[in-house]
Amino acid sequence: MEPIRHIAGRRGKDIRFYEAECKDIDTAKKELIVEYNSDISDGSAGENITKNIKYDYLVVGVGGTYNTFGTPGVEKYACFLKEMGDASKIRRRIKDTIEKASFDSVSVEERSRLLHMVVVGGGPTGVEFAGELHDLISEDLSRWVPELSKQIKITLIEALPHVLPSFDNKLVDYTESMFKENGIDLLTRTKVKEVKEKTLHVVNANGTESEIPYGTIVWAAGISARQFAHTLRSKVPELQNNTRGLIIDDYLRVKGTQDIWALGDCTVSKNAPLAQVASQQGKWLAKTLSKIAKDNKTADAFSQLDQKFKPFVYSSNGSLAYIGGEKAIAELPLFNKQITAGGPLTSLFWKSYCLWELFSIRSSLSVAMDWVKRAIFGRTISVD
Ligand SMILES: Cc1cc2nc3c(=O)[nH]c(=O)nc-3n(C[C@H](O)[C@H](O)[C@H](O)COP(=O)(O)OP(=O)(O)OC[C@H]3O[C@@H](n4cnc5c(N)ncnc54)[C@H](O)[C@@H]3O)c2cc1C
Repeated sequence: MEPIRHIAGRRGKDIRFYEAECKDIDTAKKELIVEYNSDISDGSAGENITKNIKYDYLVVGVGGTYNTFGTPGVEKYACFLKEMGDASKIRRRIKDTIEKASFDSVSVEERSRLLHMVVVGGGPTGVEFAGELHDLISEDLSRWVPELSKQIKITLIEALPHVLPSFDNKLVDYTESMFKENGIDLLTRTKVKEVKEKTLHVVNANGTESEIPYGTIVWAAGISARQFAHTLRSKVPELQNNTRGLIIDDYLRVKGTQDIWALGDCTVSKNAPLAQVASQQGKWLAKTLSKIAKDNKTADAFSQLDQKFKPFVYSSNGSLAYIGGEKAIAELPLFNKQITAGGPLTSLFWKSYCLWELFSIRSSLSVAMDWVKRAIFGRTISVD
């Protein structure tokens, strides 16, 4: 996680940063209503603060949130994989189930339930998580709880016939064969109908329904719009009729508004919800807004954008995914062709690219040091 104050601080007085939540917007008055809620809930930090902020132009980049697709019980019983806090919750849950399973008084069935870790969603997030989970078990838990680690089972559930639908077929086959080798069970063509406290209710393509006992469930089945996107949508309901997010045009202008841009995961466009897309859109918009400011012709800048500027065009740098066991897969555009690769060397490339893409040298160093520490001492199994 990169503190925004580090980035804002480098720009001096150009940027004013508030760590607050945009609760509402008055598009007629060009005003945002934001609220600061203290993390300290015992009242000792004082009152929460509400503030109105005026804008000439607004850029919305509130991202997305997890999508439960209305499946009963997911919100209550599943762990998600979106925010920093989600990672701590998963770690706490895994530690809890393992410690509980280690008691002799626990029955064989209950132990097998506790040690069953289920991942729902076979996109890059679910696949990478299942791969990392396998590494945690084979590299670390096998040392700390050798007997129990042999009984841990990982299952990945995916509604489509295969995992990683956006990747090349060869890489999909490679990933599925590696999962088989690593003992990760793949339940494809299977939909989760309900999550209960200790079991999952699933249905496969033949319509056969079954109950699967689990100890930990991680839901990585896609994203949906955040509340602020819905709030903004409600101001222009006739033009913003897509519940997945804000409809934008090729210039990232929010349809139905005169002064609002939006980018990244909170938008609906031809581009996928990816960091690559959000980052390129951010750079394009920053350049465009700088030019508008330099020209000093702000009055009609929004409506006349298409006469003066080229539209935003996304250029993919390719796709990478870690699949566990120090192996990764890659699909990279090279000389107008798609090059595909998979294996330990690709994993090294994946690691280097991750470090390169981090926002600051501080973060790159921190992650690199963490990998070195992990290689020498193993992963930490304490929870924060
Ligand atoms: C586990 C995981 C792995 C991923 N791996 C990859 C990958 O390998 N490659 C890739 O390209 N993409 C990946 N993605 C997707 C990528 O993270 C997103 O596409 C990207 O972060 C979108 O950027 P964004 O700025 O639109 O939204 P976000 O990064 O979600 O940022 C939105 C910010 O807005 C804040 N916010 C929300 N509502 C409000 C409000 N009302 N008021 C104020 N602030 C608000 C949020 O707290 C958040 O900080 C991954 C996603 C996940 C969850």
